Amino acid sequence: MAWKTIDDVGLAGKVVLTRVDINVPMEGGHVTDATRIEKIVPTVEDLIARGAKVVLLAHFDRPKGKVVPEMSLGHVKAALEAALGRKVVFAPDCVGDVAKAAIAGAGQGDVVLLENTRFHAGEEKNDPALAAAMAELGDVFVNDAFSAAHRAHASTAGLAHLLPSAAGRLMEAELRALEAALGNPVRPVVAVVGGAKVSTKLDLLGNLVGKVDHLVIGGGMANTFLVAQGVEVGKSLAERDMAATALEILAKAKAAGCTIHLPVDVVVAREFKAGAANETVPVGQCPADAMILDAGPKTVAELSKVFAGCKTLIWNGPLGAFEIEPFNAATFAAARVAAGLTREGKLVSVAGGGDTVAALNQAGAARDFTFISTAGGAFLEWMEGKELPGVAALG
Ligand code: ADP
Ligand code: MG
Repeated sequence: MAWKTIDDVGLAGKVVLTRVDINVPMEGGHVTDATRIEKIVPTVEDLIARGAKVVLLAHFDRPKGKVVPEMSLGHVKAALEAALGRKVVFAPDCVGDVAKAAIAGAGQGDVVLLENTRFHAGEEKNDPALAAAMAELGDVFVNDAFSAAHRAHASTAGLAHLLPSAAGRLMEAELRALEAALGNPVRPVVAVVGGAKVSTKLDLLGNLVGKVDHLVIGGGMANTFLVAQGVEVGKSLAERDMAATALEILAKAKAAGCTIHLPVDVVVAREFKAGAANETVPVGQCPADAMILDAGPKTVAELSKVFAGCKTLIWNGPLGAFEIEPFNAATFAAARVAAGLTREGKLVSVAGGGDTVAALNQAGAARDFTFISTAGGAFLEWMEGKELPGVAALG
């Protein structure tokens, strides 16, 4: 997919409308985690260094097209000023005269922050009139909000069709990492797909089997594949009505030359709670009154071999119920193996997904991965092989 970066557009003396994701968690009017704000700093600094006046466009929470004072971006202004070390001029609307006045009044090196785009009903409908009103405010559009790129909204895809457009540094890093993992990867490639249910990840599995050399299926969804193959899983979480679908995926994998890896041993327990009494058994020997909550050490050893034989790894979904000890063991162990191979320069590793990122952080493995995507839905849709409207518009 072709997309421009800020190296490809003229910026000196231009007003640059910059779409960012600063949808940070807040409590009592204070930002509790400024990670998203910190991540946009390089793009903002780069734009200013090239002589641009930076105007930030962003959504915050879900006001559903109405002005909701608690969801005002005015609440993040102080945190933004702290992260940038610059004056931030806040405009109480993202279009119209107040926005124009704020932009005209901002000094050299100041950053303008426009009010929540979702205060307008046209934002999520990608209303051309709203996009045109935004476009009136600037000369160039830079999109640095990969996490919002799977939705065609006025401030993402709409605006990109009206102004010269480019990806910001953060969007660029994310796209490069994803392309290295799945677009044009160094082979062999292994994908790990875990989590609770097959039904939520059908498109993902369907796309991956055609693209990767090895597919590791773990977590609750592995149970569905086991059941489909006639292996009993007792009281485990399994979608028995998805058996036919699971078999179709296995057939598709075989036809595409993709090797599927399912657990060979499993950790079973009678209760879904931390510290529950448990035992490790060969797959197929899950007692009728027990449930599979994690993969066993033999499975981890096998996965470690697969990882060591691959050059690229892409991971979404934990291998077990990692929130409760000791059923985090396989996920943590496999994550540490991937982290070690990456540190040694043998593996390009990319991971994403809310629970996956949490698990890799808890395992202390995230910092060694080549790239950790925090984009959630956009990451998954990209892995599913879907075109992201916010990215397609940057071509
Ligand atoms: P992500 O958020 O990274 O996309 P998912 O939401 O798909 O990941 O999956 C994470 C969930 O899957 C976790 O809540 C985890 O407890 C659950 N899970 C994984 N393995 C099992 C299992 N064997 N039994 C029940 N739940 C499981
Ligand atoms: Mg999840």
